[in-house]
Amino acid sequence: MYAWQLRAPAPVEDRPLVATDLPVPDPGPHDLRIQVNVCGVCHTDLHIVEGEIDLPKLPVVPGHQIVGTVDAVGAEVTRFQVGDRVGVPWLNWACGVCEYCRSGRENLCDFARFTGYQVDGGYAEYQVTDEHFAYAIPAAFPDAQAAPLLCAGVVGYRALRLGDVRNIKWLGLYGFGASAHIAIQVARHWGVEVAVFTRSAEHRRLALDLGATWAGGSDEDSGAPLDCSIIFAPAGALVPAALRGLRKGGTLILAGIHMSPIPQFDYDLIWGERGMRSVANATRQDAEELLALAAAIPIRTEVETFPMEQADAVLLKLKRSEIRGAAVLVGKGADNLASG
Ligand SMILES: [Zn+2]
Ligand SMILES: [Zn+2]
Repeated sequence: MYAWQLRAPAPVEDRPLVATDLPVPDPGPHDLRIQVNVCGVCHTDLHIVEGEIDLPKLPVVPGHQIVGTVDAVGAEVTRFQVGDRVGVPWLNWACGVCEYCRSGRENLCDFARFTGYQVDGGYAEYQVTDEHFAYAIPAAFPDAQAAPLLCAGVVGYRALRLGDVRNIKWLGLYGFGASAHIAIQVARHWGVEVAVFTRSAEHRRLALDLGATWAGGSDEDSGAPLDCSIIFAPAGALVPAALRGLRKGGTLILAGIHMSPIPQFDYDLIWGERGMRSVANATRQDAEELLALAAAIPIRTEVETFPMEQADAVLLKLKRSEIRGAAVLVGKGADNLASG
């Protein structure tokens, strides 16, 4: 099968991904073999390809926002059948027995495996995943529009949950890429006012289109009493700026898997019971809830599609912030063709 493989990390400008031919994988007893219709491109893929996070498996096929069609099933599979459309997110497997798994926090499982990281992912024609970690995709979403829900959407949703955003008045969003443009729609659905901080004039326009009350730069004062802010951009320098904008008792959520160093700041910025916490991955419950909510709202995902064969060029565009909304790689089985 056609696949993109990372053998050694390097800056994407040096094209570290290699287009190669791999054997079609066989499903184990509990696995689905999925023909990849589309695979979303996430900032985490960029961090993996460039080696900004530790790489437990090399070579590896990246990609963890897979929408595909079940093509073969293992002997014990009961939840899905051949021909079903399913999605596969970042959390590929959790042990089910450790302290974290047993307390509803399988996203923190000590033995968790992640798609396109410890397990070959979706920058390929086929991918294999345990049926208990795959999801039915709501019919309302074409393949490409569904892909960003699986990581950008799910992680944004977990950030909203950790910030108790359903029960606040004012939310701040720092960075307005794939995650934020989904999170804002959930927040607006809950009746929350949103201020969006982003450098890009185009992203500010999109934010206002999607119901933001205010949009401006991270160095500007929104004037809003923010109860919670979420930083999606991997820039540690935003942390003091975002804390400065929080009201007393407010929470700052850091939603990225990677962040540049956070500058030193005065205790004043977290005085007044301001809190700060990171989001690590997401649980199956997060995924199920977000997919149901996405269909009910319904969430509109902004995607730019590209043929699977352009994966390495697309990562470069992502690095240069040249993607509007979310980038999605389109394989042979997709229900909508690549435009890029
Ligand atoms: Zn991701
Ligand atoms: Zn576990």
